[in-house]
Amino acid sequence: MIDLLSDGHVHTKLCHHAFGEMEDYVKAGIAKGLRQLIFLDHFEIGISYFETTWLTADDFRIYRQEGQRLREKYKGHIGVGIGVEVGFNPDYIVETNRFIRAHDWARVGLSYHFMPVVGANHINMLSRKHANIQRISDYGHGQMLDDYYAGLLKAVKSIDADVVCHLDAGLRNSKNVVYEERHWGLIAEILQVMVGRKMALEINTSGYALRGEPFPRQRIIEMAQGLKLPLVLGSDAHKPEQVGRNFELVTE
Ligand SMILES: [Zn+2]
Ligand SMILES: [Zn+2]
Repeated sequence: MIDLLSDGHVHTKLCHHAFGEMEDYVKAGIAKGLRQLIFLDHFEIGISYFETTWLTADDFRIYRQEGQRLREKYKGHIGVGIGVEVGFNPDYIVETNRFIRAHDWARVGLSYHFMPVVGANHINMLSRKHANIQRISDYGHGQMLDDYYAGLLKAVKSIDADVVCHLDAGLRNSKNVVYEERHWGLIAEILQVMVGRKMALEINTSGYALRGEPFPRQRIIEMAQGLKLPLVLGSDAHKPEQVGRNFELVTE
């Protein structure tokens, strides 16, 4: 049902907020006894933000080259895949799909990190930085959840991805976020579209450290199971020692 020996969501220092060499992540995967590790580093396009938390075109060249080198070097020990975590930008759908098609990816993950705001920088909805959390609060949690899930619905309809990453991680660092019935309705709609487009749902184990359960939460996983959506596992490692983190908790 879910492959507990495959970590399908691993970052690299090329995104400027992860640490360690790509090879260190591969070695960590071997040490954990994993069968497969897929790098899934950040692609974003058209984002106005005070720092760059994604790979440039040059970074992606290095990333793919090094990934291929590691795939050859560790053949027979662990499968190394080179994928990409595509951040949704509603204003760049065509360009995003063009980028996806331009390469042969082991996996294309889909996330929605940056909320567009007219006349201002994007808001990073997943950030733990105080400035972002303050802007999310000023925007209003209910309204931002509306926009986050409406955006994600548009994303699953339009972006050619294989997996939806950390589905309910938007506003993950904000306190007292309340889900209303309409948010659950949007989530149900997203899952339904995923069925039609043959997308898998990621169980992202970075959630355990933050809230004692993965992204998405149990209720959404159960909804996905009801629809027979395939589930894939990802640690969202931003440090080598996070590869395969908390995978043993998932079967519970
Ligand atoms: Zn990241
Ligand atoms: Zn990630």
